[in-house]
Amino acid sequence: MSRDAAIVSLRGAKRWQQGHPWIFRSDVSQPPLGAAGAVRVRDVRGHALGWALWSPGSEISLRLIDGDPDAVIDGAWWHARLDQALARRAPLASQTNACRLVHGEGDGLPSLVVDRFDRWLVVQLLSAGLETFRAEIVDALRSLTGAEGALARNDAAVRDREGLPRGVEPLWGTVPDEIEVLEHGVRYLAAPRTGQKTGAFLDQREARVLVGGVAHGRALDLFSYHGSFALHLARRADAVTAVDSSGPALARAAQNATLNGFTNVTCAEADAFEFLREALRNGERYDTIVVDPPAFAKNRPSLPAAVRAYRDINLHAMKLLTPGGLLYSASCSYHLTKPLFWEMLQDAAAGAGRRMVLRSLTGQPLDHPEVLTIPETGYLKGALLEAAD
Ligand code: SAH
Repeated sequence: MSRDAAIVSLRGAKRWQQGHPWIFRSDVSQPPLGAAGAVRVRDVRGHALGWALWSPGSEISLRLIDGDPDAVIDGAWWHARLDQALARRAPLASQTNACRLVHGEGDGLPSLVVDRFDRWLVVQLLSAGLETFRAEIVDALRSLTGAEGALARNDAAVRDREGLPRGVEPLWGTVPDEIEVLEHGVRYLAAPRTGQKTGAFLDQREARVLVGGVAHGRALDLFSYHGSFALHLARRADAVTAVDSSGPALARAAQNATLNGFTNVTCAEADAFEFLREALRNGERYDTIVVDPPAFAKNRPSLPAAVRAYRDINLHAMKLLTPGGLLYSASCSYHLTKPLFWEMLQDAAAGAGRRMVLRSLTGQPLDHPEVLTIPETGYLKGALLEAAD
């Protein structure tokens, strides 16, 4: 058999047949001879499976991109696949000028992330195989979006596992340090170059509207980052306190409140766990609380400690609620699955001694597609809860 193709085990092939695009190193019976790039894939019986991105140094060796063995993976192919992803986002145009244009495996474009902030793009190329198509991807994105500039935020840690260097570099044009985003009537500044991840957390857009619509009284936004939830809360609540441990993020939160003309937002630079304990000691109460922490469970071994941290923060937040008060709680840890998230909330409610009622569950928005056969595409879940006593 020729060595320009990858030969995979039947177990690897079965994964593809069941709708998951990854084949791990242990299921590659014979690797391709060449460097990273697109390769044909066959199973050990010689059956052609299609095309994959090949990452020689990664545990995830192959990522299926096309099940058609006769496909031609050229500029036109990337253009067509990206066009499909963009078409899916069309309904968002009336609500926001910022959204995720490509959610990797969720859009059939493994290891590629593209976020749009108004007239600029932030791109992440997260595998060695994908990197070899940088020019084709850039060309297609330029012509499809007409964006004035794009930045590669290739400083994500996963690039280490692909043997790729980390860095932030321009792809074309000039991307401003701060870009004003409009999201369901609220405006905020995102920082694509220096901000966390790609500069803003676009995945909670719909949840912010949900909570903003029912917010009342005294509100608290924990893990506020640049205040995205706080701004939506400020529309209805009397007063909002935005808490985060990052000074630069909070400085932008204050700026963002001013940008919207809100005078009822206060920023507090603090550890959220300590803030809650202090508030309880002082006998404070809140009518609306948002808990949207970073991923406490970064990997499976850290899951037990993460569950304790989630439980702790939610338990204390529940205790702080006034009767009839609302808590929106979220987790973006892939390892904290939906059932574990729910179990954690049940434990927290029991520990807090509060009768918490479920108002609604939230997941990922349209521009962050979660594919059922690819669990890794789903990571975000949330619950809006009401303290009934
Ligand atoms: N709610 C935000 C996103 C939060 S991201 C939004 O909708 O945009 C998580 C945030 O938690 C980051 O801004 C990070 O700085 C902050 N953070 C991490 N650990 C923290 C801690 N122990 N106390 C307070 N903030 C923390």
